[in-house]
Amino acid sequence: MTTAALIVAAGTGTRFGGATPKQFLALAGRPMLAHAVDALARHPAIDRILVAVAPDRLDQAHTLLGPVELIPGGSTRRASVVAGLAAAAGAARILVHDAARPFCPTDVIDRLLAALDDHEAAIPVLPVADTLVRDDGTLTDRAGLHRVQTPQAFRLATLAQAHERWTGPEPTDDAQMVRALGVPVAMVQGSTMLDKVTHAQDIAAAEARLAWETRSASGFDVHRLEDGEDLWLGGVLIPHTQGLSGHSDADVALHALTDALLGTIAAGDIGTHFPPSDPQWKGASSDRFLRHAADLIAARGGRIGFVDLTLICEAPKIGPHRAAIQARIADLLGLTPDRVSVKATTTERLGFTGRGEGIAAQATATVRLPEPQA
Ligand code: MG
Repeated sequence: MTTAALIVAAGTGTRFGGATPKQFLALAGRPMLAHAVDALARHPAIDRILVAVAPDRLDQAHTLLGPVELIPGGSTRRASVVAGLAAAAGAARILVHDAARPFCPTDVIDRLLAALDDHEAAIPVLPVADTLVRDDGTLTDRAGLHRVQTPQAFRLATLAQAHERWTGPEPTDDAQMVRALGVPVAMVQGSTMLDKVTHAQDIAAAEARLAWETRSASGFDVHRLEDGEDLWLGGVLIPHTQGLSGHSDADVALHALTDALLGTIAAGDIGTHFPPSDPQWKGASSDRFLRHAADLIAARGGRIGFVDLTLICEAPKIGPHRAAIQARIADLLGLTPDRVSVKATTTERLGFTGRGEGIAAQATATVRLPEPQA
């Protein structure tokens, strides 16, 4: 028995302002629509995923979503569902879902599909917790009232028949059309994870519903001090009698920070991403290494919380340059300076740093990452 899932994502979403429909806006680092697809793709009982998008978004959706069946949506939600039903022909069951509900717990789908064993249709609902009042001040008894969510589950033939026979105005969901056939609709427990993202501020609320984990990692680097080299430290050119030598600009501070950031997502080290054997990195500004690590974290939906840097050298004195280094790193990472700590120490003239042969740097980074959805 084939089970299809249809995500309706053809809306233009103008309530957010701007030209991009809300389902294509980033939520925890990825388009909202991609989260909705992932949530359905994780469920083992779902065999096919169809996504209805506006015809002029098909290419963009193809790039974002990978192996889903894309279909051109219609000018109304209902027209998109009709197109999806035609494309899903042959499936026995269909889940109809809105892209504006990016997270869908697996157990809600379990309950919907179980309900289809003895019902033609099933919807996830939550009880109304607030007191309800009309414009004229009269109260409505909330007892027995439910908030209706998606995905809504149907035997496909029943939903197709409901759409064929519907003569009313544009419906807000599919279950009301099935009810109009006189077919009962089962109600199963929904989830606050399915709350709809309607307004721009709902994106932050949706992100807050995710579970986040905090990770810290460290980085360490050394470069040799030599005559005739520029001294770049923390993205700042510092006047000094010698500079650091290396394949790139040898900014030991940014290299240690880059490794710390890569460590938080277990993404290898700076050499993994920018091999010293590759001539394109010769003399390269280390800004781009740090930004690349930050971009990888952002692509995982992560947020950099704090970085801490310690420079180890006898000379130059770091104190006079501390604020400039702090400001530069904050700018590169898109952080406020109070989230960037810059420290320095000597090694009491001991060892290679004490003899002025090189500069060492160690760094720690702390990031928050959204945990994978269950
Ligand atoms: Mg290095």
